[in-house]
Amino acid sequence: DGEGNVVASNTPDPHDSSLRPRRMDEMVGQRDVIEKLKIAIDAAQGRGEPLGHILFDGPPGLGKTTFATVIPSEMGTTVQMANGAGIRAPKDLLPYLTNLGEGSVLFIDEIHRVPKPVEEYLYTAMEDFRIDIVLGEGVNARTLNYDLKPFTLIGATTRAGMLSAPLRDRFQIREHLGWYSLEDLCEIVQRNSVKLNLPVDDDSAEVIADRSRSTPRMANNRLLWVRDYAQSKAGGKVTADICEAALDMIGIDNLGLDKQDRGYLDTLMRIFAGGPTGLDAIAHTMNVSSDTLEDEVEPFLLRSELIVRSRRGRMATQKAYRHLKKTA
Ligand code: ADP
Repeated sequence: DGEGNVVASNTPDPHDSSLRPRRMDEMVGQRDVIEKLKIAIDAAQGRGEPLGHILFDGPPGLGKTTFATVIPSEMGTTVQMANGAGIRAPKDLLPYLTNLGEGSVLFIDEIHRVPKPVEEYLYTAMEDFRIDIVLGEGVNARTLNYDLKPFTLIGATTRAGMLSAPLRDRFQIREHLGWYSLEDLCEIVQRNSVKLNLPVDDDSAEVIADRSRSTPRMANNRLLWVRDYAQSKAGGKVTADICEAALDMIGIDNLGLDKQDRGYLDTLMRIFAGGPTGLDAIAHTMNVSSDTLEDEVEPFLLRSELIVRSRRGRMATQKAYRHLKKTA
């Protein structure tokens, strides 16, 4: 099974920060998003106003957090990082909101996970830079009006559809981050191999990029594994063959799928006769959470046309049967 397979996982690892671009110019791809952001930053600075609130959506590992760190650094301001899953009540937001500096950034990752009362609390914070703080309880409760420093909220979500319209509408800038081209991923691999002091030729970079599920985080994770493998098995030399052997060893196939991705397809075909079947049924059978499947596994399977989603559930495509060498 795919569990315990660090390299294949799509969760952040400590290397994320060392390989993460620090300036917008170091970012590869997403040209249209970068152009628009540069204009918005430029204009806001010209007016001496904080940048409008920004919402990024898209599958994990495509650069949402990276944007949330490079934008404040372009603007010469600070950023506080929060996660929607950790903000259970409005009071959990207070430390962040009261700490805001003029024009600084508050980043809330997984913003679709904040509960409704928190969401409503954000409305006035975002719109009027003002919050109400309730002191005391019951009949003794008093409401205190508190002015915030004008700030920029950057929200990130893998599920734009789960955000309520009133919250979504309060973001002036909304950007969808799409998949990366092979060319962009090759460039990311090349640049990061320089940072890692590991010579990687074009063919090797292409093998890694090709098996990285169109996702920079995957490209970085695969590159780090290739480095370990090359150091331990090939005296530090990286070739296309070595990349292939290294990635084969951890179960990454020629489409870039890992064991969990193939486990999903296998479950769908073997247990559910190729579907249509519900996500929860697949998740229960695989013993993983449906959130994990929906966030980390399905987006690339959908993009690769290995599965389709309909109202009746998920279905494996002919391409998926061919890839797993099974017959429908
Ligand atoms: P997300 O927040 O969307 O899950 P991240 O911003 O954490 O994704 O990106 C994961 C890693 O991928 C980053 O640490 C960074 O090294 C790399 N990365 C993401 N986007 C880019 C990009 N446009 N150019 C270069 N590297 C990138």
